[in-house]
Amino acid sequence: MSLEIHDHCGVFGILTREDDVAKLTYYALYALQHRGQESAGIAVSDGRETMMLKDMGMVSQVFSERDLLNLRGYMAIGHVRYSTTGSSFWENSQPIHVNGPRGSVYVAHNGNLVNTDELREELREQGVRFHTTSDTEVIALLLARHPAEDIEEAVREVMPRLSGAYSLAILTETKLIGLRDPHGIRPLCVGRYRDGFAVSSESCGLDIIGAEYIREIEPGEMAVIDHTGLRFERFSEVRRPSLCIFEFIYFARPDSVMYDTYLYHARKHMGMSLADEAPVDADVVMPIPDTGVPAAIGFSQASGIPFGEGLIKNRYVGRTFIQPTQAIRQLGVRLKLNPLVRDIRGKRLVVVDDSIVRGNTTKEIVKMLRDAGAREVHMRISSPPDKNPCFYGIDTATRQELIASSRSVDEIRRFIGADTLHYLSMENLVRATGRPKEEFCTACFDGEYPIPVPDEMRMAKCRLEAV
Ligand code: SF4
Repeated sequence: MSLEIHDHCGVFGILTREDDVAKLTYYALYALQHRGQESAGIAVSDGRETMMLKDMGMVSQVFSERDLLNLRGYMAIGHVRYSTTGSSFWENSQPIHVNGPRGSVYVAHNGNLVNTDELREELREQGVRFHTTSDTEVIALLLARHPAEDIEEAVREVMPRLSGAYSLAILTETKLIGLRDPHGIRPLCVGRYRDGFAVSSESCGLDIIGAEYIREIEPGEMAVIDHTGLRFERFSEVRRPSLCIFEFIYFARPDSVMYDTYLYHARKHMGMSLADEAPVDADVVMPIPDTGVPAAIGFSQASGIPFGEGLIKNRYVGRTFIQPTQAIRQLGVRLKLNPLVRDIRGKRLVVVDDSIVRGNTTKEIVKMLRDAGAREVHMRISSPPDKNPCFYGIDTATRQELIASSRSVDEIRRFIGADTLHYLSMENLVRATGRPKEEFCTACFDGEYPIPVPDEMRMAKCRLEAV
């Protein structure tokens, strides 16, 4: 469930001469904060030189008003990170900066490459020394060192050599480029801001600064932004559009638009389908906050069972750097969720969540609801059973840790202690998105990975599972 899946990364970029780009980027990163809370960074160019500030922590912890005033220029990129490839330390925070013969290249990356080892080895043989363990440094090095005359040519030459998921914001002294891999696994969209343009992982990053959404960058396409304006160029054929379906289920904000759909509406439809697929007699439909809310509203509307909030989320815990005492740690999920005991006592509950990962958190929640006096607990999950790990930039779990990889739905029901349990069918999940299944990566559910995952990478996960 969403309390167990860690987000990935968010990227943003902007060019405008009519406003303070560092502050605009700061606000956009605030809107994208749900995509990563471990580190944040902003790089700003004034056309001659580029300055950057990045650090561990959330956006509000990393930047002060004075820091932002010192980042002067008319183009910027920003990044919020949750570690995927490479562990969590300062050097791996982004943007990543590399100098080359054409000047500086700064890269902000959302996704994960599956051929990093091969590319890193090749660079190592050329005598390159690495300062991070991240695949983003490999991309930045390949772009900065490429002998092409300009950055666009370097993109055309380098991107076909990358395999995996990458949505990038690239900044040089004079250009800002946003691009998506040929499968479009991670999102990236473009908007207009006053005299300039912006790129953002999600449309909510454009909304917060008042930019006007133009469209998604297509798979295999780059949006080049400079003093002449915005132009789109394809650097690769679309290989089979494969947007991560988890963006629709949980990752992205409900007020973001993907494939021309508000994710809020898609999630509500998932809840309506859940009510059709697995109706139940109950007194209240209750979401696991926050991500279960739209699906719970949909379930309530389709079933006629009243919607009610029974669990209140402590929004800021987990964002503290102060280690909890042992006694506090033992509170487990109660640190994050607090039940409205008087509203729960004696009630038959339908509890709606977006997914179950390991199952331990769901088990704790069911127990907490029973301890609060719930008469029945019926779990409804707005996605199919999550059986396979992600190699494209999401830190879910190893296969062995995923409870649905080895247990039947009824075994999971018994494990979590619910009276009934139902997962949304793949058919109705896809229907709720309004697009065909062929336009998504659904590997978490069916193991159909759109980009081949090298055996070494799969085996590395197995070795992880064995330790
Ligand atoms: Fe998304 Fe799962 Fe595909 Fe990863 S494997 S991109 S989390 S659907």
